[in-house]
Formats: sequence, C-alpha cells, structure tokens
Amino acid sequence: PETITIQELANRMAERAVDVIKLLMQQGQMLKINDVIDADTAEIIATEMGHTVKRVSEADVEEGLYGADDDPADLKPRPPVVTIMGHVDHGKTSLLDAIREANVVSGEAGGITQHIGAYQAKAPDGQVITFIDTPGHEAFTSMRARGAKVTDLVVLVVAADDGVMPQTVEAINHARAAEVPIIVAINKIDKPEADPSRVRNDLLRQDIVVESMGGDTLEVEVSALKHLNLEKLLEAIQLQAEVLELTANPDRPAEGIVIEAKLDKGRGPVATVLVQRGTLNVGDILVCGAEPGKVRALVDDHGRSIQSAGPATPVEVLGLDGTPEAGDRFAVVDSDARAREISDYRQRKKRERLQARGGGAKTSLEQMMS
Ligand code: GDP
Ligand code: MG
Repeated sequence: PETITIQELANRMAERAVDVIKLLMQQGQMLKINDVIDADTAEIIATEMGHTVKRVSEADVEEGLYGADDDPADLKPRPPVVTIMGHVDHGKTSLLDAIREANVVSGEAGGITQHIGAYQAKAPDGQVITFIDTPGHEAFTSMRARGAKVTDLVVLVVAADDGVMPQTVEAINHARAAEVPIIVAINKIDKPEADPSRVRNDLLRQDIVVESMGGDTLEVEVSALKHLNLEKLLEAIQLQAEVLELTANPDRPAEGIVIEAKLDKGRGPVATVLVQRGTLNVGDILVCGAEPGKVRALVDDHGRSIQSAGPATPVEVLGLDGTPEAGDRFAVVDSDARAREISDYRQRKKRERLQARGGGAKTSLEQMMS
C-alpha cells in the first residue's frame, strides 16, 4: 500500500503538520509528525482541508520519458557492450588494461586514455567494442539488481594456473540470470604452471562446454601480462556479437544508464553514462536518476571533448545539477520544466524511501499525492 508521512502530506498541501495531526486526532488517530498514513487516509484529510487530490503514479510522471519501441526500419547496427568478470586475481583488470593499451598503440599515436569507467576498443576488422571498466561484479550486480540491462556479453576470465573458483561460478550464474552469452578467456597461459585443459574440465562441471570440446562457448587462451592473443579475443567477441545482431536507433532523444558518477572539484557532478539508444548531444536537457541537467560538455574515453555520442558509446556528461548513482537511468527530455518535474518527483521518492527506512516503515511509495 502507498503511504506518506504526515510532514510530507502537510508540505505538499502547504499546510501546518500540526493541523493535519489535529484532524487525524478528531478521527481517532493519534499520530506524530513522522508517522506514515496510507494514501486513502491522506486523501480524506486533504479533501477535508479543502484541497483537490490528484494521485500521480510513477508511470504518469514518467510517461513517455523512455520512448516507445523503435520502428525496426530505424534500427542500425551498434557496438557490443562487454563486461569482464571472473575470480579475484584472475586478471580482469590486467586484461582490460592490456586491451586498452594495445588499442592505443595501434590507434592514435601516443594517445593517453583516460579512465572513465568504460572505453571502446577496435577489433582487428575495425569494428568497435565497448568495454565496461568498472569493478566487474559490483557494477554488474548493482545494476542488475535495479533491473538494468547493461551488457550484451560477458568475458569470463579464468586463470589457467588456478581454474574455476567461487567467484567464477558466481559470474557464470550472473551471466546466466541475465541471459548474456559468455566468452571464456583462459588467462595467464604464459605461466609455466598454466593448465588450460584443467580450466576446460572445470567449466564442463559448470555445464559450460567450450568450442574445443565440441560445445558452442567460444574460448581464447590469453596472457594479459604478455599481451598474447588479445586480438583473437577481440575477434571472438566480434564473432559472438554478430550472432546477437545488436541494433539501436541513433536518431532519437538519447536514453541510457549511469556507469559511474562522482563530484569533481573543478568540474562539478560528472557522470559516465552509456548511451543505449538515440544520440546524446551537447545542449540536450536531460534527467539522470533524480538529477536534472543540461549537457554542458561531453568527454570521451580519450579525454577529448565531443559534440555527440551515439548508441553503445560511453561518455562523461557534465552539466548535471547533482551527482546521480551508478545504475540510474537517464533520458533526454524536451524542456527544463519536464526535467524538473521528473527530478522533483524522483527526489521526493528518494526522500520518502530514506524516511521509510529510517522510520522502520515497510513500504516505499508507488503512488503519491500532489
Ligand atoms: P583481477 O583481480 O581479476 O582484476 O586481477 P589483476 O588484473 O589485478 O591481476 C592479478 C595478478 O595477476 C596481478 O599480479 C597481475 O600482474 C597478474 N596477472 C594478470 N594477468 C596475468 C597474466 O596473463 N600472466 C601472469 N603471469 N600474471 C598475470
Ligand atoms: Mg581488478
């Protein structure tokens, strides 16, 4: 059931909380300012105090925020979004760094990449691949817990000298729950004690049958340290991506998800977002989680200022009023007023969630009074 605190109800009516409490008392309810009442009671009180009540649901406020499904004719191919997962110390960070470095060398001369939580690399055939570069598990699980689908593919890193470990299994389960295909990177093959066939057998026990054992899970033996077979891995990703036929409509207001966000001393709130459909432009008005804003600048994974970012592009967004949270969705809207309306609603909901938690109440608000 929907609830509201007496304070919040009073605020929204611009009445004194004490008057609300008095009215409730007349009805035989002895309540304090931070107590919650249900929406029906709130409606009775509000009406009695001479207010017109309009119940607004999240669906009402956010109506049309995330655009309707695209016409298939407008869909264009887009890069795959890849997350690297695996047991601690099996080489996730090393592999992400190795791919990035290898790409910088073959890409722009002497280019210095900037860590923004995601980056793009090129497969040997020139196709772009987007890597999410935030600490794998946390990002993936927190975003998934919030119902966001971020990644198209999981690269499962398994160290050849260690085999399948508990977090490897966890990663497999996450990928399965999200129905995201897995590519196995058997890492550390430069080590004398490396035993790739043990990894394959371990995986078999998890019902993952790799290609070389007659299955359909692509596997690549790599060394992040020695930069061995990185191109082969990129090729495998590209191959798997082609099967998925990933598309998005670039010609619409942008929507996507926050990968990382921070408050930067000089630049203010900075969010790294992944554009999931549409194209995000400098000057666009958007709402990002509970924060409204107007895109002042877009910065790519090389630290370059860009004018626009299309589907599957990670980009830093400057110009938000506040700092959103990883996993928040963003969407471009057509006016400041609309951005404010949505962010006010979300801020209110956020406050209520916190209050409800603090006050020990059990439910969060789905509908509310305005
Ligand atoms: P993460 O916890 O999965 O991110 O693992 P890291 O990338 O931090 O790597 C853990 C350790 O393994 C580090 O000491 C790395 O230098 C080492 N390492 C990573 N990849 C390789 C590799 O291909 N070969 C060897 N010999 N060591 C590696
Ligand atoms: Mg790491």
